[in-house]
Amino acid sequence: MGPLLRDGPALDPRDRGGPHQPLLIARDLRKHFPVKGSGGKSVKAVDGVSFTVRKGETLGIVGESGCGKSTLARLLLHLVVPDAGELVFDGDLVDTRELPVDALRRQVQIVFQDSYSSLNPRMPVRDSVAFGPFVQGKKKQQARDIASEMLGKVGLDPDLFGPRYPHELSGGQKQRVNIARALVTGPRMVILDEPVSALDKSIEAQVLNLLRTLKRQFNLTYLFISHDLNVVRYLSDRVLVMYLGRAVEIGPIDAVFERPLHPYTRALLASRPSMDPARRIEEAPISGDPPNPIDPPSGCHFHTRCRFAEKPCEKTDPALGIWEGPQSHVVACHMHDLASGHSRLANV
Ligand code: SF4
Repeated sequence: MGPLLRDGPALDPRDRGGPHQPLLIARDLRKHFPVKGSGGKSVKAVDGVSFTVRKGETLGIVGESGCGKSTLARLLLHLVVPDAGELVFDGDLVDTRELPVDALRRQVQIVFQDSYSSLNPRMPVRDSVAFGPFVQGKKKQQARDIASEMLGKVGLDPDLFGPRYPHELSGGQKQRVNIARALVTGPRMVILDEPVSALDKSIEAQVLNLLRTLKRQFNLTYLFISHDLNVVRYLSDRVLVMYLGRAVEIGPIDAVFERPLHPYTRALLASRPSMDPARRIEEAPISGDPPNPIDPPSGCHFHTRCRFAEKPCEKTDPALGIWEGPQSHVVACHMHDLASGHSRLANV
């Protein structure tokens, strides 16, 4: 039997705008969740986030838990419907006329952190993986053949693992099955929402390497969400830093990790645990708890924890700069805005 799956770096026939047209553009996405009994208040989970994902890249998204990154992932697939904002996929606006959500979901898949609950416990894993091709119109046996081939691509012997049920697999094996399920229908982009956070460190490395291999093999674009900065650095080309529902810094991964511009990004990087005892941090690099997302601080949301906060920070929400070109590194902070009136403008 010849290969049933499309792979290799050849030009994707679904590509519409060429390599320079972003695969995904998110513009001013918002999602506020009403809080019962709060007198009309809401949790501002995602509060006006804009970014692009370029064809073939991995864009990492980082931030503390509760910053809105998982809600953002769900908004991109309309698993949670945005209150406002626009999504453009390879030049097509995601709406009922240009690119309906169903058509978007054929090109974008998601892998969640919880590998067990994503699988049907009463279905052998080969059938779980075959479900996608079957729904796409393949005959039952052909869908099973495609699933077997995909299980092999994610490092699971299809004869050995195909007939097993999810409870008979380890966490890493289950996550491999979830990755197989995501890839088997031939998406162009995969959203990976904390895909290795529940795994042991040794297994984590294997799954990360697998994700890198599959990306090359299937010519994929990744959006990779994690609270683990080291993991994000390993996999990503660029990174977007979120704080309280907003993007505060975006740039190439090395630039952001070596020359972070936003005080929050610096604090996040400084709080990474070090294996070197001489470099262990004794004091928390960031003070105070994250503010309540129901009632976030005025102006820059970070001003209640920022040691550089001044009057303009309390009053005005700093804009994220203009982001053009693959090397653009932009930040939403008044210290980087000539017009803001911040006194430390020249000292950052
Ligand atoms: Fe700190 Fe002000 Fe910059 Fe916000 S805008 S990060 S409060 S200096």
